[in-house]
Amino acid sequence: MLLKRLFTQAHTLSKTTAASLVRPAYASIHIQQRASSTTSESDTFHASKLIKNPSTKLKELVPNQELIFGHTFTDNMLMIEWEAKNGWGKPAIKPYGKLSLDPSAVVFHYSFECFEGMKAYKDKKGRVRLFRPDLNMNRLRRSSERLTLPTFDTNELIECIKELVRADERWIPSERGYSLYIRPTMIGTSEFLGVGPSDRAMLFAICCPVGPYYKTGFKAVSLQATVDKIRAWPGGTGDAKIGGNYAPGILPQINAMKKGFQQNLWLFGKDNELTEVGTMNCFVFLENEHGEKELVTPPLNGMILPGVTRDSILGLAREWNEFKVSERKITMSEIIKAEQDGRLIEMFGTGTACVVSPIKMIGFEGREIKVPLDPKDPNTQAGPLTKRFNDTLLGIQYGDIEHPWSVLV
Ligand SMILES: *Cc1c(COP(=O)(O)O)cnc(C)c1O
Repeated sequence: MLLKRLFTQAHTLSKTTAASLVRPAYASIHIQQRASSTTSESDTFHASKLIKNPSTKLKELVPNQELIFGHTFTDNMLMIEWEAKNGWGKPAIKPYGKLSLDPSAVVFHYSFECFEGMKAYKDKKGRVRLFRPDLNMNRLRRSSERLTLPTFDTNELIECIKELVRADERWIPSERGYSLYIRPTMIGTSEFLGVGPSDRAMLFAICCPVGPYYKTGFKAVSLQATVDKIRAWPGGTGDAKIGGNYAPGILPQINAMKKGFQQNLWLFGKDNELTEVGTMNCFVFLENEHGEKELVTPPLNGMILPGVTRDSILGLAREWNEFKVSERKITMSEIIKAEQDGRLIEMFGTGTACVVSPIKMIGFEGREIKVPLDPKDPNTQAGPLTKRFNDTLLGIQYGDIEHPWSVLV
């Protein structure tokens, strides 16, 4: 399969070369050689071959209250290396530490990077659980395919990640709301400045203990709709979790914060369709023009990151079957009209880090659109449906609610 993939790449690349790229002749020779030298390579790594060489100099644990998201890292990491010539090497658990890379490595020049974000939770009995890891691993595979980085068997990676989580188990806080954030990452490390597929790659995973997103109850956010920049477009890479999508999103985020908003809302097209909230998927609960209650989220049309939380919320809502559930286009004018008619009920963003993030206001073209929170309790920072999704998902993630989405490590 991989062999075929590389041949196809080499073929399309040499065609592109002829057509448009300014590319030295040796570059396509290099790719051809790679393609023909891949006959013996293995298409995946194997968790059964894992080399366990965990850290012997254990760090001091950080007290729960002092945890800041993404600042504290555990004792160990997972590392798996790939070379076009020999395929995947053996996975290894090794002490957390710096990477040594050549300055010419393609990750630094052409953004050969994709990543995942998932969590391990400790349940009441002290058992460790993952939440729908198959979805994260499939998504990483799709992201890596988009970047012509090597593919792998997703079940093998789940097993390797379970081993990493076992090695770092003492870092998983047991208090409710706390968890171990896991960041699997793949980079291209080819030492070659030609713009072509990378003939070397590293797949690694690091972990950080994290606290609850809302330490003292929900905190609803205000959003500034970004009108001068777009996050993703048809045929682009907005549906892949690749590093190149994120750095360009910081500037609109900073601009929104300078204006007093907490996050930015991404729009697309002439009719300002909603796409995502910062780095979260976006949900709107409203009464539609036919008088039906409807939960709406933008469809997976290539511009939306297919969130695990998004999929889980759609799954729960369809299972409850209490209101209409739609993956469809929704525009700013529909939001404005619904708000004016008193039909806008709740809005929230979704993602692994926060589960749900209630939205209280949107700034758009100089006006402020108020989004209701809890009509019964003005002090509550989330609407009843937002809260219900949050509580149900946390219940499943921490194993309080029996559900096939929660996987024991
Ligand atoms: C990761 C991510 C999400 C949320 O995905 P989850 O799988 O729910 O964590 C949403 N939007 C973007 C742009 C993301 O990168």
